[in-house]
Amino acid sequence: MSLLEIKEATLKFGGVVAVNNLSLSVEEGEVYAIVGPNGAGKSTVFNLISRFYQPFSGSITFDGQNLLDRAPDQVADLGIARTFQNIELFDHATVLQNLLVGRHRHRKTSLVEELFFAPRVRREEIAHREAVEEVVDFLDLQPYRDKMIAGLPYGVRKVVELGRALATGPKLLLLDEPASGLSVEETQDMRWWIDDIRKQMGITVLMVEHDMGLVSSVSDRVLALADGAKLAEGTPAEVQADPAVIEAYLGV
Ligand code: ADP
Ligand code: MG
Repeated sequence: MSLLEIKEATLKFGGVVAVNNLSLSVEEGEVYAIVGPNGAGKSTVFNLISRFYQPFSGSITFDGQNLLDRAPDQVADLGIARTFQNIELFDHATVLQNLLVGRHRHRKTSLVEELFFAPRVRREEIAHREAVEEVVDFLDLQPYRDKMIAGLPYGVRKVVELGRALATGPKLLLLDEPASGLSVEETQDMRWWIDDIRKQMGITVLMVEHDMGLVSSVSDRVLALADGAKLAEGTPAEVQADPAVIEAYLGV
């Protein structure tokens, strides 16, 4: 059984077929990349998985469970976390506070417990802090942990955005253009993070990315999307050599 399975999903916006009878499956432990020109439907695929959009037809399962009868916050509870292409952090909170927000889904105590069973609440709070400190260490964010997001360079905010998703302890991490706007050096760092997230943390990664260098170096499999449909799928080398992909990219 695949960790994530999309079968024959279709979504139209007016006359535009954003996702066209698309099937893909992501296996546990792999890094799977979706590439394609602007408007190909990449973000729409993420929004379908996150349950922001409802497909017209098709099915999506995660860990054997039907995702389509879940609300967006329940998707997070199942263990799917995502980053956004346009970083979505609280600008006037610190790095640590932003990462703690990511832990929210693990809060098990009720208000009554908070009033009458303080020790359990404290234990939970300590567990959250420990999990967040682990992410801070893992992503080398110690120098920034108590700094306000608003004052941080773009490249650091991008790493915090990754950390916010990681702090939820996901099984599947969706990365929307993790290298966009990063320098060559920062992109290299992002490559190591993604590699380590998979190898050390055992988290499955599904990413959308334009930087083919990054895609080739971290991905096990690549899906090339055009006009919402699958153009090619295979190893990075196979997809890059595919005549249909070359034509879609270069228009030859
Ligand atoms: P990509 O991320 O590959 O650049 P998108 O998934 O954002 O592409 O968009 C795919 C197509 O669907 C585009 O033609 C886009 O204009 C259209 N689209 C995406 N979201 C919406 C929306 N909320 N309303 C109308 N059209 C949309
Ligand atoms: Mg997009």
